[in-house]
Amino acid sequence: MADYDVVVIGGGPGGYVCAIRCGQLGLKVACVEGRGALGGTCLNVGCIPSKALLHASEAVHEAGTNFAKMGISAGPVSVDVAKMLAYKDGVVKSNTQGIEFLFKKNKVDYVKGWGEIVSPTEVKVGDQSLTTKNIVIATGSEPASLPGVEVDEERVITSTGALELTKVPEKLVVIGAGVIGLELGSVWGRLGAEVTVIEFLDVITPGQDGEVQKHFQRILKKQGMGFVLGAAVQKVKKLKTKLKVTYKLRKDDSEHVVDADVVLVATGRRPYTEGLGLEAVGVATERGMVKTDAHWRTNVAGIWAIGDVIAGPMLAHKAEDEGMAVAEEIAGKHGHVNYGVIPGVIYTGPEVASVGQTEENLKEAGRAYKVGKFPFMGNGRAKANFATEGFVKLIADAETDRILGCHVIGPGAGDLIHEICVAMEFGASAQDVALTCHAHPTYSEAMREAALACGDGAIHA
Ligand SMILES: Cc1cc2nc3c(=O)[nH]c(=O)nc-3n(C[C@H](O)[C@H](O)[C@H](O)COP(=O)(O)OP(=O)(O)OC[C@H]3O[C@@H](n4cnc5c(N)ncnc54)[C@H](O)[C@@H]3O)c2cc1C
Repeated sequence: MADYDVVVIGGGPGGYVCAIRCGQLGLKVACVEGRGALGGTCLNVGCIPSKALLHASEAVHEAGTNFAKMGISAGPVSVDVAKMLAYKDGVVKSNTQGIEFLFKKNKVDYVKGWGEIVSPTEVKVGDQSLTTKNIVIATGSEPASLPGVEVDEERVITSTGALELTKVPEKLVVIGAGVIGLELGSVWGRLGAEVTVIEFLDVITPGQDGEVQKHFQRILKKQGMGFVLGAAVQKVKKLKTKLKVTYKLRKDDSEHVVDADVVLVATGRRPYTEGLGLEAVGVATERGMVKTDAHWRTNVAGIWAIGDVIAGPMLAHKAEDEGMAVAEEIAGKHGHVNYGVIPGVIYTGPEVASVGQTEENLKEAGRAYKVGKFPFMGNGRAKANFATEGFVKLIADAETDRILGCHVIGPGAGDLIHEICVAMEFGASAQDVALTCHAHPTYSEAMREAALACGDGAIHA
């Protein structure tokens, strides 16, 4: 008799959600986590702490820019970084403890320590041996490194260090114009740092809709963020008081040097499988990722994998969906994740959100489409809230009107996008959204207006 039906290795959004769903489905389950707290990257050093700092720094920005316009005088705004970090740590703690409560509620055994797979039916955690019918690998990811750049998490930092800076740097250089670099660059920029983002490609946020990329960059530039695009960072030299960042422009190979107090390396993340024992049990990997089939099975019977450690977007909600789906599969039901409808959000001010196809994807695929666009300038709520920057862009099939994608840059974009996610799950047309009554005055009306623009035209544009 095995101790467990399922042992999940990793307590991040993939692993903890999987463990809870296993418990709900009546499976005997343990979740092994080595970092000393549940919630993984997301709750401890990712989504949650970054959003806390984005919220706090946005409040500083709002006080400095819009309070006076509404007749509010609050005196000069000052920031106590230590207190701001303490607020962030409090948010993290209450979230991670919340998962421990959910584990108890759903009868999940929380095993503290680093797990090693010694056979398809046994996981070792220190001296403890857990026998099991199934193993789910949910060990997540870690920041990717860059040759010539040595991270010390004090002056040359990853996202983890960027959540712990004890003072606002004068000059912050961010390497990489992806989601994490722009979010954390925004945090410290709003708190007073001069931020320069150096990006290898010629665009920011690779993979986004092209129009959104350009608009987004313009807004960030207006907020004071500097950009060097098409540039490959060669090295970061550490002097006593300064850092010297050397980069080469790809267009002419010319070399340039920029000074910084702090350098944030935000060049992506790579799957984490160290010490897991994959080679010994013969679990196949590809470019560091654990290989799975469409049902999250590895090549070794009884061993499954989900989340950042496998292929696909490195997003908490993608990991969570896979966690639930794999639990269903193990319980003999049918787990399902619709990879065509996974939203992506950048929590800057304004937010950027997207789901489904971009115009670029559709052009490449030769599919005929139409676009309905609506600017937040035409939205009454956005006007009242000084939030008129940005637009909604809805993309629908030219013939059938079926929604294929949506790209939003503007207030509350990260919440607005879900209307379209639901619509897409139901195979809705743009007209379905256009015919749905939307409360006034809300930002959501901009979604409806974009849908109207796919047909006979928006009303307020
Ligand atoms: C700064 C930052 C901001 C982010 N913001 C967002 C966001 O806003 N929205 C979003 O969707 N995503 C965001 N992400 C990405 C998100 O955090 C990840 O996609 C998500 O955490 C992946 O979940 P996971 O369960 O696959 O892995 P992880 O969250 O990485 O969890 C894996 C866990 O496994 C543990 N582990 C590893 N090996 C072992 C072992 N052998 N034994 C025991 N335990 C082990 C690790 O300690 C870790 O706790 C952000 C990431 C960062 C870094």
